[in-house]
Amino acid sequence: MTTYIKRFVETDTGHRVPNHKSKCKHIHGHRYRFEAEIEGDLVEEKGVSEEGMLIDFSDVSDILMIHIHDVVDHAFIVYEEDELGLKAAGCMGDDHRTVVVDFIPTAENLAKWAFDQVKPHIVTAYGNRLRLVAMHVRETPKSIASWRP
Ligand SMILES: [Zn+2]
Repeated sequence: MTTYIKRFVETDTGHRVPNHKSKCKHIHGHRYRFEAEIEGDLVEEKGVSEEGMLIDFSDVSDILMIHIHDVVDHAFIVYEEDELGLKAAGCMGDDHRTVVVDFIPTAENLAKWAFDQVKPHIVTAYGNRLRLVAMHVRETPKSIASWRP
């Protein structure tokens, strides 16, 4: 038996899919939801704040805020080989929040990126087994991608 928890953070983020056959090649944005799925065993140590939890939801929230939200919220994510996208972002001046990545910023690739951002920080102080098993990225209400190694 295993317990799972999920916690998400949302960001308002711009991107484009440069090779897309249709409208996704245009610069546009989404209200992304980055959702971490964690499995493990409950903390059994008596009297501690996390007794009966895998990890405190607020600790997961802090990790998602620092390593995802604060990186890509109100930012434009652009593929490093997207010359037109880089040129457009460059016109916005030095203080424009541009996040250059080595992948086309699809929901699928962002799920893997988010997983790699978050995984090193999912740790426990109580010796209970704890593991980030997946990141889910909701790009639109109808479209969700997941990365599960
Ligand atoms: Zn899009």
